Amino acid sequence: MVGASLALALSRSGLSVVLIEATAPDSAAQPSFDERTTALGNGSRRVFEALGVWDALQAEAAPIRSIHVSDAQRFGFARVDAAELGLQALGFVVANRAIGRELWSALRQAQRVTLRMPARVMAVELGADCASLRLQEDSGELRLQARLVVAADGAQSLVRAAAGISAQIHDYEQTAIVAALRTDQPDAGIAYERFTQAGPMALLPLRGAGAGHWHTLVWAAAPADAQALLALTPQQFLARWQQMFGWRAGRALQLGHRGAYPLSLVRAATAVGPRAVLLGNAAQAMHPVAGQGFNLGLRDAADLAELLSEVARSGGDVGEALVLQRYAAQRVADRDGVVRFTDALVRVFADRRPGVGVLRDLGLLAFDLLPPAKRVLGRVSLGFGGRRSALTRGVPL
Ligand SMILES: Cc1cc2nc3c(=O)[nH]c(=O)nc-3n(C[C@H](O)[C@H](O)[C@H](O)COP(=O)(O)OP(=O)(O)OC[C@H]3O[C@@H](n4cnc5c(N)ncnc54)[C@H](O)[C@@H]3O)c2cc1C
Repeated sequence: MVGASLALALSRSGLSVVLIEATAPDSAAQPSFDERTTALGNGSRRVFEALGVWDALQAEAAPIRSIHVSDAQRFGFARVDAAELGLQALGFVVANRAIGRELWSALRQAQRVTLRMPARVMAVELGADCASLRLQEDSGELRLQARLVVAADGAQSLVRAAAGISAQIHDYEQTAIVAALRTDQPDAGIAYERFTQAGPMALLPLRGAGAGHWHTLVWAAAPADAQALLALTPQQFLARWQQMFGWRAGRALQLGHRGAYPLSLVRAATAVGPRAVLLGNAAQAMHPVAGQGFNLGLRDAADLAELLSEVARSGGDVGEALVLQRYAAQRVADRDGVVRFTDALVRVFADRRPGVGVLRDLGLLAFDLLPPAKRVLGRVSLGFGGRRSALTRGVPL
């Protein structure tokens, strides 16, 4: 998702861009454009507007008009309404496959972007003047040279390893179960975040067949509990979910396919190396509790595209160390802020020590009563600091 977004953002930069993807976008095995949905913040919406893909996505995007956060079996809860913050929506939920469809369709028409897929990067050498890549395609092996390699190859990034960049890994010992779920109540644009004994769960509005009654569920549970949940029949699963979530979204009626994602925080020591930039999951893969991973990756891509376009137009070398250092410095506050915020949220709500629950309740109540605290959410939707790139303001490059 992040690599394809960057390639599209660079399509008018004057640079020759080659996008290498191991799995064809319409394949059922595509790991990025899969059955999940993504909650896009307003910053991401603006980037997609500037890239010309939002018009097509909007028809399938479910607006989030309010967010309801609660701690199961405790009194604390908080609610944030878009209208209170002067916004039309706090974000939009879109199917990953729809994002993929629109990005690939735009990329196929982009003039200076060459798509190589399915093609797998097998080896990368990063030299002082250029990067060399060895690809494996159906028709055989291919070698490429480039002034810059952008690694948007996921949390197990091969390019990150080739650049000798270490990554800090924290296993949350949770697996996220993702499924579409139908209830007897319309979603009313409410996104629920509920912290339960069995792990945090999010229930988001979903557009599609029978719109208004389908939601997307993300339930993070301990791996053994997740296995047990996956082994339940759909009816048993819905009964268990109802027991943990309660009735605020109505009675559960139907369950779609259940997918499972083990959750870890993977964080690269630095976002840049010689002739290489790490982007998206390759730079930081996070817990989905706050729905921030792709939003952050897209802001990184927007900033990088703007900088590389500027350098290319002035005839400079896009892979030069000074350019990459400038990019890293521009993005450090936002990347640090989002990673820390997300990690703290997981840890605070996972803490079941006596007394911590009361502090959490007080925190949620304070958040609910204090308008300035709610404005923090506006920042979550637009980024955590540093400059805002043209694309995140909706301005095409
Ligand atoms: C359950 C869940 C829910 C989420 N919900 C949200 C949300 O609501 N909002 C949000 O902002 N974020 C969300 N995220 C995070 C989001 O999914 C990630 O941030 C996003 O997938 C990162 O995209 P990426 O392109 O960096 O990496 P990936 O999605 O991991 O894609 C990497 C790509 O690289 C390709 N690749 C890998 N190795 C090679 C190679 N050697 N050669 C060629 N190609 C290769 C793969 O085929 C793949 O297409 C969620 C994550 C999970 C797990």
